[in-house]
Amino acid sequence: MFTEAFQQAVEIIDKLEEHGYDAYFVGGCVRDLLLNRTIGDIDIACSASPEIVQQIFPKVIPVGIEHGTVIVRHKGGSYEVTTFRKDGDYSDQRHPDDVTFINNIDEDLKRRDFTINALAMDKHGEIIDLFSGTKDLDAKLIRAVGNPRERFMEDPLRIIRGLRFASQLGFSIETETLRQMERLINEIETVAVERLTNEFSKIFQGEFIQNSINYLIQIQGFKHLPIFSNEYKLFERIPKPLTAFYSFAEVIAMFHYLEEKITISDWVKAWKCSNQVKRDAMNLFEAISYFNKMGIDSWLIYRLECCNFRSFEHLIELLFNQPACLKSLYNKKKALAIQARNDLRIDGHDIMQIFPDKKPGSWMEEVLKKVEYKVVMNELNNNNQHIKEWIRCHPPETN
Ligand code: ATP
Ligand code: MG
Repeated sequence: MFTEAFQQAVEIIDKLEEHGYDAYFVGGCVRDLLLNRTIGDIDIACSASPEIVQQIFPKVIPVGIEHGTVIVRHKGGSYEVTTFRKDGDYSDQRHPDDVTFINNIDEDLKRRDFTINALAMDKHGEIIDLFSGTKDLDAKLIRAVGNPRERFMEDPLRIIRGLRFASQLGFSIETETLRQMERLINEIETVAVERLTNEFSKIFQGEFIQNSINYLIQIQGFKHLPIFSNEYKLFERIPKPLTAFYSFAEVIAMFHYLEEKITISDWVKAWKCSNQVKRDAMNLFEAISYFNKMGIDSWLIYRLECCNFRSFEHLIELLFNQPACLKSLYNKKKALAIQARNDLRIDGHDIMQIFPDKKPGSWMEEVLKKVEYKVVMNELNNNNQHIKEWIRCHPPETN
């Protein structure tokens, strides 16, 4: 009944039980198994302390010992193993003041965000369901565990997590849970931006993104988010119906396209994204702007990174209602005369020899750029003699 990943994780539970501890599958993996969805990561909760877990298993990465979490590496897989815990007060609305390790699962399930995430399962597939999470799974409902107001006050990120599950699962948000989300939405301003970005990235990648965005609009969530707090009309300009994105870089590229005065750097800074996200967003923005003027040609494909193909395909469909075929993008990429400037059969020395009186300078870059374009567009053969001849006939304008 279990997939291979679960089977291997059962061996971890077996080992913990052999040492006299209780251990269960918890969180998203149980929810997704019951929903017949692809399982992300497998999380295990147990009564053993992190120190004990480290002693029991040979390969353990201590990722968050103070919260009771370690990663156990087993047969090539990684499993988050967390000690049953009870959270203290959340006076800063971010982290519990203290975490107490406990030895039964009931209290541990109580601290979890939504009923559908507060399910545990033993190694035989027996479900522990203290908050009617399975009923909510059947009814497709996102409902806070316990008192929603208290739970959102403890950690306002849970409001955004609720929207994330609405996007991933297409579920409705239970009435009282939604009412408290709406009342407390301004509290998300206290949440660390990185945590918001992580959840938003998942919101935009969810299959039911429009469902989630509708809720976000309903609770006026934009007013409390980086950049949108000043520009929340921007949200009204998002194309509808919205379909799943592939990356946060793609989201940034779209918003920058919709409102050019907010730069990609502004987005990256406000949402604390990595340099890789910035590079991908720039690459995508350049491609969609070029597409809007010129359509798909060899130059566009040459400039667009393969890792952004799917995002590009999605964006041109969303923004211009134009289909693109992913397979044909890959084929065209493969068929290009060159893949990178390094493949040009000419270099700086050759260019200097053609113009021996000129001092090296930015003019050389200009020449190379033109040659690169000509070769990519199949207007010039990638052949040393041909290129030199072309350069002689098209000398740089500056001195
Ligand atoms: P995914 O499939 O994306 O991993 P998930 O439900 O496993 O979804 P995680 O962020 O991995 O989500 O969290 C694992 C579990 O930890 C959740 O299912 C939930 O029970 C609990 N959890 C995570 N974050 C919070 C939070 N901020 N407040 C309360 N419980 C949380
Ligand atoms: Mg998870």
